[in-house]
Amino acid sequence: MDEIVKKYVLYNSVKYEKVDANSVIGKIIAENPELKKDIKNLIKKINEAIKEVSKLSLEQKNKILDDYSFKKKEEKRELELNNVHGKVVMRFAPNPNGPLHIGHARQVVLNSYFSDKYHGELILRFDDTDAKIKVPLKEAYKWIEDDIKWLGIKIDKIVKQSSRFDVYYKYAEELITQRNAYVCTCKNFKELVDKSIECPCRNLSFNEQLKRWKFMFSKYKEGDAVLRIKTDINDKNPAVRDWPAFRIIDKGKHPLKKAKVWPLLNFASAIDDHEFKVTHILRGIDLRISDDRQGYIYKYFNWGKYPETTYTGKLLFEDLKSTSQIKKLLDEKKLTGWDDVRLGTIMALRKRGFKPEAIKNFILSMGLNRNDVHVEISNLESFNKDIIDKESNRYFVVFNPKKVIIENASKFDIKIPLHPDFERGFRNFKTSGEFYVQDDIEKNKLYRFMHLFNFKDNKFVNKELDKNAKLIHWLPASKDLVNVEVLMNDNSTKKGVGESSLKKIKTGTVIQMERNFFAILEKKSKNKMVFVYAHR
Ligand SMILES: [Zn+2]
Repeated sequence: MDEIVKKYVLYNSVKYEKVDANSVIGKIIAENPELKKDIKNLIKKINEAIKEVSKLSLEQKNKILDDYSFKKKEEKRELELNNVHGKVVMRFAPNPNGPLHIGHARQVVLNSYFSDKYHGELILRFDDTDAKIKVPLKEAYKWIEDDIKWLGIKIDKIVKQSSRFDVYYKYAEELITQRNAYVCTCKNFKELVDKSIECPCRNLSFNEQLKRWKFMFSKYKEGDAVLRIKTDINDKNPAVRDWPAFRIIDKGKHPLKKAKVWPLLNFASAIDDHEFKVTHILRGIDLRISDDRQGYIYKYFNWGKYPETTYTGKLLFEDLKSTSQIKKLLDEKKLTGWDDVRLGTIMALRKRGFKPEAIKNFILSMGLNRNDVHVEISNLESFNKDIIDKESNRYFVVFNPKKVIIENASKFDIKIPLHPDFERGFRNFKTSGEFYVQDDIEKNKLYRFMHLFNFKDNKFVNKELDKNAKLIHWLPASKDLVNVEVLMNDNSTKKGVGESSLKKIKTGTVIQMERNFFAILEKKSKNKMVFVYAHR
């Protein structure tokens, strides 16, 4: 723990002069989520480290940091799959009932990481056979493809389960013929199976089974019958015992497929994993039962070993909504869309200026953890900051501007660098004695206009950098300024004015509004520039 703490405190102290304990916490927890359990002790350690590090010179700090990053490279844990023999084939299998959110993104990022690593194949398989509860959305197929593309992930094949019903029916009939599947019409099935009692349908004749299977497509109604897979009726897990493979849905709401008899997830998934030669599966630990269920299908068809399955815990974002919660809020018109900035969809993160690399780095940094990991969006933000801090040019934007007149100020014609660490040119300012500021100016207090001069009680003091002066950003009160609006992450709007050089930037550019936050330019018109808030 001490090592990680020291590393990030050092890193931040070199980068930002003043160490921001909050962003250090985020980074440390992202690298080692376990430490969250003892946050008090962690904060104590961070504060100790800040004290210790403040005694070092910049040169000393850099030297230690070099050692760390050297070590970091060596120690970087390589993620690996078990039992790799021959070509690796993996699949990402979302239900297209909405666009991807950051939780799904974990699965697709990890799947693509492994299929790349082993030079294998990645299939995008739409698990779209729920026509009743989590019903697919027609638009979401395209959205998901776009989200994946934006993440920079290459897909080798796209499969829709809703277009493969003939295949599933064929295998179902084979299982009935093998006497390994039966049509059950019991209303009290659960009661029986919980006591490991076979239901009366299980041992009916083959002809009766075939007749009932046909009835599922004709006279039976929803809830009258299901096709079950025979298993060990004494299996220790009642949910595995004679699990259902097909059900009837009378009024399906599927956008692409009309059918009466629908395969359930475990059945369709087993058939497709076999038919598409999937070798490795990443699966949420909560779906562990799927292996046990689907193993029976592999056994009955002599398909050999079930694909190698690696379990992952869930990423629990305490501050983000799930697809079904989002759907409900959209129906109630409480959101602006799937890309509403309050959401954790890839669409929303993209709109806010998050970079695909940041999302990937964040996900890979967590590795393959079997336990659920509690994360906050701020963990992701610190990964994004690593990227955009370097890329983003700096500009002055003053929100809720207040005018300040400095009585004895000379006129200045100054250049301020677009970025403090890189030579990318300058922004030019012409000042007189009138300025706009964001903060309230207190009496009898020394202030410094960044890159300009010090003042106190509306009077110019001097130009030399004075560490005791409170640093504030500013704008010359000129006609050149542009109106700026920022859509914040709580969907509120912040209004202000910005420097004239903002007019040159293109939509989609992420900038840092100095002493405020990072934001992305969404649109601009003649007299207004509209940004979306990214993060601090
Ligand atoms: Zn039955």
